[in-house]
This record gives sequence, structure tokens and C-alpha cells, in this order.
Amino acid sequence: MTVSNLTNAEAWIDALRYPEDDPLILKTSDHHKILAKLKTAALSRYDEEEATLIWKAETIAEVQIKFITAFSQLKKQNFYSAWCHLEQCEITLNSLKKHHIISDDDPHRLAYIDNMIARWQSLYPYKVFFSPEILKKKIECSVCRAPVLPRSPCGHRKGKIYHGDLCHHIVTEMEILSISAVENPVQRYSVAFLANPDGTQKDHYNYSNVKFVSDRLSSPFHGWHSEQTTRKIAASEVAHLPSDHPCPCLSGAEFSECCIGRSELVVPHLQIAFYVQPEGNFPENELLL
Ligand SMILES: [Zn+2]
Ligand SMILES: [Zn+2]
Repeated sequence: MTVSNLTNAEAWIDALRYPEDDPLILKTSDHHKILAKLKTAALSRYDEEEATLIWKAETIAEVQIKFITAFSQLKKQNFYSAWCHLEQCEITLNSLKKHHIISDDDPHRLAYIDNMIARWQSLYPYKVFFSPEILKKKIECSVCRAPVLPRSPCGHRKGKIYHGDLCHHIVTEMEILSISAVENPVQRYSVAFLANPDGTQKDHYNYSNVKFVSDRLSSPFHGWHSEQTTRKIAASEVAHLPSDHPCPCLSGAEFSECCIGRSELVVPHLQIAFYVQPEGNFPENELLL
């Protein structure tokens, strides 16, 4: 199939099925342009229904591309960049879900992507995020550009689709009142990083769990899941640790005040099951702390 045969939204939505088998469409760098042209044509015929379907096609492609891009960033060990792509993918997918029912056979792999975003996020070491408190001074409607005022609504509703575009509010003037460190923010881009003495960002996080999984996958569409369990280790395995080292059981206490005299320690263990056998030379039944 070539992209030039796709002359309506339905054909596009159909062509976007099974992104793992046929990434042809997503590799077509000008698919944005082609879809934009189709949308303009639909709108010139006042065909709102077709314009909405084209928005769906665009958004399905965007979700798939963001997910695939996040995976390629993971493979390159650009872990923070991958995190941001996953975050964007999640936001785009959430707006799509309000207008598009994910069918049981889920040929666009949207439910899969939804699940996998949460699984990848669970492997990340990020715990603290910055969240700004913003005073929005001027807000515009993205459809008609009228100011959004409580007493004189423009008639467009945020989150609805008009002329093939999602209506959102644009903040054109704002003031940041405060920035707080929180554990569960609305958006999770603002990861707390340390700074180098020259002020540049320093990534001090330990990504070993994320890397463990991404190293063993050759496709973003090879599924896996993780389970938090525990395992026992012999005292001899941790005998080399100094007594003021954090205890390997991860209680937060010093080794000397926790498990130091025990013959056996119970430590947290993350178990990963891969649905597709990892390629390459990886030891079987690996254990991961
Ligand atoms: Zn409006
Ligand atoms: Zn302990």
C-alpha cells in the first residue's frame, strides 16, 4: 500500500493498524502534510465528521510515533528524554480516548501502549517532581482565539473537537506563584535533578532497572511485565559492606542498625517476565535488585 492511495480518514485509520508489522505509514515523514491537506479539503466541504476522523487518524499516529520514539530513546540510554516522550504519549492518548473507543481487538495497539507506559514509568527512579502553582491571567480559546472569561463564554468547550482540532485553552499571560516539590504531580516532566557547580543539570539517578529491561527488548511491541517480590541472600554476599552503609534490605537504616548479624537477608527483588525471548547473550534467570 502506498500513502497516495489513502484518500480519506477511514483509509488512514485502517492503514495505521498493527504498527509493529507495518511501520510504513509512520515512516512517511510527510504524513502530517497529507492529513492536513485532507482535513482542509473536508472542511471546505463543511464535512465536520470527516475532519474529526482525520483528527483521530493524526492522533493515533502521534501516539504510536511517541511510543516508538520513547523506545528508541530508551535503547540509546537517553532515559530522561524517553520519560518525557512517554509522558507526552500518555497525555495524547488520554485526549484520544475521550473521542475514540479502543476496540476489543485493539489493532492500533492503544491499550497495549497505555499499559506499557505505566510499566515503564514504574521502573524509573524518579520520586520527586517540581510542580508550579500558576496564576493564569489571560486565557484564549484555541478555536476562536477569544478570551476565555467566566461571564462571556465563546461557546467552545475544552476537550471537544471543532473543525478537526481539539479545543484547548491557551494561557497567554501568567504568573508563577510558587514551585513546590511533590510526589504525585499532574504532569511529570519536571523531574528534580541535581546541579553541577556550573549550574548545568546533573543526572544522578540510577537507571539500572530501566536499562535492564530496555537492553533485552528489540521492539517496543515486545511485551513484558514486572513484579515486586523479595529474595533471600546469604550474609556472605554482603559481608564486604561497611557497617555505616545503607542496609541492603532497603529499610533506610544503616547496615549496623538493621540486618548486620543475620545469616540470611531478605531483600526487595524486581522480577521481569519477557513475552519474547530476549536476543543476545543474557544469562538465564537473572536476578535484579
Ligand atoms: Zn472559542
Ligand atoms: Zn536491613
